[in-house]
Amino acid sequence: MTQRFSFELKATDGKARTGVINTPRGEVRTPAFMPVGTAGTVKAMMPESVRATGADILLGNTYHLMLRPTAERIHRLGGLHKFMNWHRPILTDSGGFQVMSLASLRKLTEKGVTFKSHIDGSKHELTPERSMEIQRLLGSDIVMCFDECPALPADRDRIATSMRLSMRWAARSRDAFGDRPGHALFGIQQGGLERDFREESAEALKQIGFDGYAVGGLAVGEGQEAMFGVLDFAPDMLPVDKPRYLMGVGKPDDIVGAVARGIDMMDCVLPSRSGRTGQAFTRRGVVNIKNARHADDPRPLDEHCTCPACSNYCRAYLHHVFRANEMISGMLLTWHNLHYFQEIMQGMRDAISAGTFETWQAEFHAQRAQGDIEPL
Ligand SMILES: [Zn+2]
Repeated sequence: MTQRFSFELKATDGKARTGVINTPRGEVRTPAFMPVGTAGTVKAMMPESVRATGADILLGNTYHLMLRPTAERIHRLGGLHKFMNWHRPILTDSGGFQVMSLASLRKLTEKGVTFKSHIDGSKHELTPERSMEIQRLLGSDIVMCFDECPALPADRDRIATSMRLSMRWAARSRDAFGDRPGHALFGIQQGGLERDFREESAEALKQIGFDGYAVGGLAVGEGQEAMFGVLDFAPDMLPVDKPRYLMGVGKPDDIVGAVARGIDMMDCVLPSRSGRTGQAFTRRGVVNIKNARHADDPRPLDEHCTCPACSNYCRAYLHHVFRANEMISGMLLTWHNLHYFQEIMQGMRDAISAGTFETWQAEFHAQRAQGDIEPL
């Protein structure tokens, strides 16, 4: 097994790419979808079940883990992989985004951010240096730069000021990360919806030099059309020979549209979060299992799906356990959703390799347009 981090581009079809990220903890096939293991678990799933869905890599959240149980404790206990029993690659975010969305009494300075924990009100500081330290203590394979991400819409001045601060923090992150063979540091492009700021940000990051590049600051309320508008040019500004990661995306059609625009990696809580609220993603669109129409339905959620929820249970059962608040409801729907997301990724990887991605996309959209099967 390789002892260093590398990215191998295997095929392209239009702007879509397929390849492999090599890490000492195993390969990540791209395009890759990363399930989110917020607090050291992908909610409602055993790690071996997550692997069985086809996931090569998980995402862990610095903000949640630094507050509870703390990075120092996880380090003493042998690192995040051992702690959560996931021995394949882990990417950790920098904590910056969640400080902005979850913590209270935030104070932003050139140095970093101070804030109060949403759990117990305790006071904390995150800086580029502290974020790098936390991600090192966790044992993360892919470390993200500490950045600031303004909510959209925001005016151009606010976007520019924030992006330039993030670029200074990117340089400090690079210095603090140091030389760690086998571990990667990704820079994060910012600049909102503004092409010139995206360009300025990409140039600044390339000057510093990273192992991979994220398109940040999207999926923050701008809508799919605006997001695709940025993705029409932003990935092209990043190096061809490094992985490109779109943070916090998304719904199945967001994922497909992003891959079509040159994105290699994505993460989102959607499949697991929706699984716990009775929402299933299927090749024929979204199914709300709580709807009364499923109460007597003996058919599987998706007859073509090979996940445990679809292989062993009918819609009526899934409806019943959701209504009865049984834990297996979230377990089965989360498994199905993660399985479906990974099936999309596998389908795209195969189609890009075969040079048939356009046909694959047409079929993907045609099936969704049919809508769910007719009620009985
Ligand atoms: Zn299924």
